[in-house]
Amino acid sequence: MDLIGIYLREAIQESGCPVCRILKKYEEDIIGQILYEHVNTPSVREKFAESLGLCTYHAWKMKEIAYSNPLYGGLGVAIIYEHMLSIYINSLKSGKNLEEKKCYLCDLVEIKEQHTIEALADRLSELIEEYKDSEAILCKKHYEELISILKKRNSGLAEELRKIQIEKLERTKDLMRAFIEKFDYRSKEAPTEREATSVLKAIESLKGLPLEVNFVKKRKQRRFFLGNRD
Ligand SMILES: [Zn+2]
Ligand SMILES: [Zn+2]
Repeated sequence: MDLIGIYLREAIQESGCPVCRILKKYEEDIIGQILYEHVNTPSVREKFAESLGLCTYHAWKMKEIAYSNPLYGGLGVAIIYEHMLSIYINSLKSGKNLEEKKCYLCDLVEIKEQHTIEALADRLSELIEEYKDSEAILCKKHYEELISILKKRNSGLAEELRKIQIEKLERTKDLMRAFIEKFDYRSKEAPTEREATSVLKAIESLKGLPLEVNFVKKRKQRRFFLGNRD
């Protein structure tokens, strides 16, 4: 198994969607690097300026990470957003329309998402047994992206993954059922930890983690809808 395989294996050993988990960590690492060493890097600042301070999701994510880690603090965010504010003020003064391009962190995470799905498709035959036995469960979006690649390359493996996915979802559903039943006044037992966390697992398996990449579809549909009305 190569380095990427080992990295994927680690994600598969955790609970929840391994792809979402990798993307969450990737996103937090990039934001951490920006705050730690690139607040004053001109090329990075240029990227911020292109989208006038990232997308709404990443702007708040950056603020959250900065304020939750004393190593970063609020200074970096203040320096960056003071600059962004001056760009905005200047555009109002000059009367020039300010074009907001796509957030570069969104771009980076989307590329990482594609690479991760590809890498997983390439190595799934080696990892499928571990996936089967672990607490990991691909979210619906990442399962669909992975299975569409597998269907073209290895339909047997795609079918195996589909069966495992159903088993995992049913297991989660059974745990939720047990959790709900423990609330019955006749029940004398408290829910187990696995039963209690099955709710989170159910939400994650349907919607993925709250990452910007997992909201993209909805935004595209809205754009399409507006396009039709014009
Ligand atoms: Zn996912
Ligand atoms: Zn973004």
